Amino acid sequence: ALALRGLTKAFGGLVAVDGLDMAVRPGEVHGLIGPNGSGKSTTLNLISGLLRPTRGQVLLEGRDVTGQGAAARVRLGIARTFQNIRLFRHLTVLDNVLAATYPRTRAGLLAVLARTPAMRSEEEAARRRSLELLDLVGLGRRAADLPGDLPYAQQRLVEIARALATGPRVLLLDEPAAGMNPAEKQELLALIRRLNREFGLTVVLVEHDMSLVMQACDRITVLNFGSRVAEGTPQEVRRHPEVVRAYLGTRF
Ligand code: ATP
Ligand code: MG
Repeated sequence: ALALRGLTKAFGGLVAVDGLDMAVRPGEVHGLIGPNGSGKSTTLNLISGLLRPTRGQVLLEGRDVTGQGAAARVRLGIARTFQNIRLFRHLTVLDNVLAATYPRTRAGLLAVLARTPAMRSEEEAARRRSLELLDLVGLGRRAADLPGDLPYAQQRLVEIARALATGPRVLLLDEPAAGMNPAEKQELLALIRRLNREFGLTVVLVEHDMSLVMQACDRITVLNFGSRVAEGTPQEVRRHPEVVRAYLGTRF
């Protein structure tokens, strides 16, 4: 589904991502793990087009999208959440999700603004769809609230609903379990599985919770200093000497 070839990103003298090769197969949940500062979020920023690489390529279903900007990549089917939540604080939860449906239908947005009857039905459909997505992540009841009124863990779920509203084929999740309690993590795991199996989404999961990563992922890429040090199934990766070294003291 997604391939990174020799992907490199330097910030001045700091090489955050260093010649990274990574292959995400269609329909898999692919974990991206590594110590703090190993380049995980930068990699997601390069995949989603928020950053341009210094060198290397991003291929989506075999097509080179390296030159495409972030908005174009959303249209091509790449959606994401952020490690630091980026919701519109002054919009309701529903409107946050609704806002993400608009880039797909610019004509629809113009129609909504013009308030013609056709446009009202366009808006109705988008609202219904946004509510369904909030239901899917378990937040239908909070649609009218402001994001700030929700616990942090639920704000992360709103970000997932918003990402889904763009109709992605590939979903990038940056530390979705951060701030979640064990019960919330179990629900997140069930949601990721459902998105993957029922909705056919390919998922790239950046996550520090090793238990969640091991349960959720089909395959895992391990980063250290911006380079891949291991790749394989959870069982393979768990035994890999580089992983044991990088995660010394971490049980997973
Ligand atoms: P964490 O687990 O803490 O989220 P990470 O693996 O996501 O870490 P990145 O955020 O990708 O790591 O950062 C990789 C390196 O690049 C770090 O040293 C970071 O300080 C640096 N870095 C990231 N973004 C920038 C930027 N915009 N400008 C300069 N340096 C950056
Ligand atoms: Mg990060």
